[in-house]
Amino acid sequence: MEDNCIFCKIAKGDIPSSTIYEDENFRAILDLGPASKGHALILPKKHAENLFELPDELAGKAMVLAKKLAKQLQDGLHADGVNVVQNNGQAAGQTVFHFHMHLIPRYNGDTVNVAWTPGTLTEEDKKEILALF
Ligand code: 5GP
Ligand code: ZN
Repeated sequence: MEDNCIFCKIAKGDIPSSTIYEDENFRAILDLGPASKGHALILPKKHAENLFELPDELAGKAMVLAKKLAKQLQDGLHADGVNVVQNNGQAAGQTVFHFHMHLIPRYNGDTVNVAWTPGTLTEEDKKEILALF
């Protein structure tokens, strides 16, 4: 547990939260500033700042859990879709530096914004990127 990490405290139960799921590795809670009705967060109990610090085993389990809870939210709230979002780094919109996955139920015509303007894949970029792998 990291000192002064709010999500460590919530995940461990030291700070109360609206918990929708808990097991030995994770706690899933309702977001305090929801983008939509049912917006939930999956938090590992073990501190990892971001996806790259999260052990592979937990990363795999987090995705399986996201699948299960996203379906329960969608079905239970009669949502029309769900975004599974996970931010790494300030530039990517991360504000709490303890890994978490957002489950954001989506409703036809809602005003949630998880979108970007499509750009163009240039030949130069394509060459540079493909050379990385
Ligand atoms: P990020 O921007 O880091 O991907 O997402 C952080 C999320 O955590 C935001 O959606 C924000 O509303 C939520 N959040 C921040 N502090 C708290 C808190 O104390 N309790 C809960 N339940 N959610 C929080
Ligand atoms: Zn933490």
